[in-house]
Amino acid sequence: MKIVIFEPHPDDLLFGPGPILLEWINEKKHDIHVITVTDGRACYRSGDDVYSEDVAKMTEDDVAKMRINEAKKSIEFLGLPHQNHHLFNFHDADGQKYVKEGIEKAKPIIKDVDRLVLPSTHNLHEDHQATHDIAVGAAKELNLTDIEYFVYFIPSYGKFQEDSKDHQFEYTIDEVKAEVLKEWLNIYQSQAKIKWTWKMSARFLRKIRTWTYARYTFTDIGTYYNF
Ligand SMILES: [Zn+2]
Repeated sequence: MKIVIFEPHPDDLLFGPGPILLEWINEKKHDIHVITVTDGRACYRSGDDVYSEDVAKMTEDDVAKMRINEAKKSIEFLGLPHQNHHLFNFHDADGQKYVKEGIEKAKPIIKDVDRLVLPSTHNLHEDHQATHDIAVGAAKELNLTDIEYFVYFIPSYGKFQEDSKDHQFEYTIDEVKAEVLKEWLNIYQSQAKIKWTWKMSARFLRKIRTWTYARYTFTDIGTYYNF
């Protein structure tokens, strides 16, 4: 099966589809691709956290370089071939501006996909919403009627709603996988420079063992809160 995963920022792969992705990799029979949509350059911009001292000396180009490098290291960590990693390098926090170009870039990669993995719609984060719009937009233009649409949500950006309860399922990981996720988190040292965000991420991976995901079909597009 060809699986294409969209990650809005370099680290969403871990917090969104990460846990179940470990299982797909273990199945050893899939052609797994990852599309990293933005370069993550805006991650120190908001100023509403506590940052390590060296952040002040970094330009946004430095930040982007560091985060793209972390995205690449994650692919390596997971043992996926680097040619299956597709970097769109859009500037994050630019939201809808890059959707049209993103759709064009995505089409050749997803044209023969069996399972498309994407963030939920009604997403509080504009880059995550833009990523959803790129994935669905490209799939609609290609008329991908027979594939699986696999939806994840990063918990702080929204929730799965009752209207598509039948499409959702809970996925629980064991301690072995939990350890792998913790090890994986350490790749994202750019995030370790953001004190409270980092603490929250580490705590999240220490405590959470169950993720909610949902599967939809082409005809479901636009019918549910999450798809
Ligand atoms: Zn993100």
